[in-house]
Amino acid sequence: MKSEQKENPGASAKAVAPKEKPGWADVPIGAVVLEAGCGVEYETGEWRSERPVVNTDKCINCLFCWVFCPDGAVIVENEKFKAIDYYHCKGCGICSNECPAKVITMVEETKFQEANGEASAAVQGNGNIKAKTGGKGE
Ligand code: SF4
Ligand code: SF4
Repeated sequence: MKSEQKENPGASAKAVAPKEKPGWADVPIGAVVLEAGCGVEYETGEWRSERPVVNTDKCINCLFCWVFCPDGAVIVENEKFKAIDYYHCKGCGICSNECPAKVITMVEETKFQEANGEASAAVQGNGNIKAKTGGKGE
């Protein structure tokens, strides 16, 4: 019997190898980004401790939030604010700070977890935390 089989008798030639992540030696010198648009692959939403919640009823569609968001996490459709992409919004609060109508409220992420039983929802979620926030997020 080969030594490989002795160590792992259940292993077979058909076993699928796990997808390998690049190691430190595979990172380009200076961590230069070689492919445009690769930021989409990194779901920075997992970093978030606070979530921007937009009161769309009072939004004036100036799109300052879209201009200032460093992660391209503000979704615009037909030149109007549509939603926040919570997969990529890291919760920096810049949009809330820049919004001239003051309709973006930063809400602790734990409130969503408590209310929805989820860690990182990917929906805009305007009003789904009413009970926990006193309606500020609507
Ligand atoms: S900055 Fe505020 S008012 Fe302007 S589009 Fe964004 S949410 Fe609406
Ligand atoms: S909190 Fe920061 S990352 Fe999230 S939408 Fe606002 S500006 Fe973009």
